Amino acid sequence: MILVLGNTLESNIPVLTRLWKHSSVKGNHWIWTGAIDDGGNKPYGKITINRKTYIVSRLSLCIFLKLKYNDSWLACHNDSLCGYTLCWNPLHLYVGDKSTNTYDSIKKGTHYKSLKFK
Ligand SMILES: [Zn+2]
Repeated sequence: MILVLGNTLESNIPVLTRLWKHSSVKGNHWIWTGAIDDGGNKPYGKITINRKTYIVSRLSLCIFLKLKYNDSWLACHNDSLCGYTLCWNPLHLYVGDKSTNTYDSIKKGTHYKSLKFK
C-alpha cells in the first residue's frame, strides 16, 4: 500500500499509525522516539514516507489542521505549554513563519545569533 497524505483525518490514519509506532505518551505530550535530525538549532523528529522525509511536528499540524505540507509555514513549538521539543501534540504547536520562529528563538535564547542580544 502506498502511504500518502490524504485530505481528511480518516484518510491519514495510516500515517498517524506510523507516527504512534515511534512515540511515547507522557501526560498530554506525544513524544517522538523515532529518527531525529539534530543538524539545526534544535533537534526535531523526522519520518520517511514513500522515500520523502517529513518533519514530524509539521506533519502533525498538516494532518490535524489540514494544511498543505510545504515550506510556506513552520511548525513552531509552544514552550509555555510544553517543554518537550520532540512533542508532536498539535495542541502544543502553532503555525508560524520564519520571522516568528526567529523571534521566538531569540527570545528564548536558543537562536545562534541571540548571544549578540545578551
Ligand atoms: Zn507537548
